[in-house]
Amino acid sequence: MHELSIAASLVESVEQAARRAGAQRVARVFLRLGALSGVAKDALLFGYDVATAGTLLEGSRLVIEEVAVAVHCETCRRDVKLSSIQDFRCPVCGQPCAQIAAGRELEITGIEIEVADDASLQAESA
Ligand SMILES: [Zn+2]
Repeated sequence: MHELSIAASLVESVEQAARRAGAQRVARVFLRLGALSGVAKDALLFGYDVATAGTLLEGSRLVIEEVAVAVHCETCRRDVKLSSIQDFRCPVCGQPCAQIAAGRELEITGIEIEVADDASLQAESA
């Protein structure tokens, strides 16, 4: 299951960023996931739960924003959403479109962290 390794590297980079920010805990991670990213949402959520165990992200929530596939139509001169990823044709004029404008996203758009407000907490762990 390649979602598990994707989740693991995602957790790793978020944890690094969280540590740099002085976080005690990560509460939520926001991710944009395109329909063409090749990643199954449910499998990624499962992988996330596994990968976060024992990290700053343990118990946090992965919030996934799904991005539909859009192509750029030369004829209509604009980006149009595809009705099906089986059919790469403009739904407006019917021309074949190969220029993908959206749908490949697999990106972290934000994280929500908890920072200790008590300095003694940090002293304890030092
Ligand atoms: Zn078109």
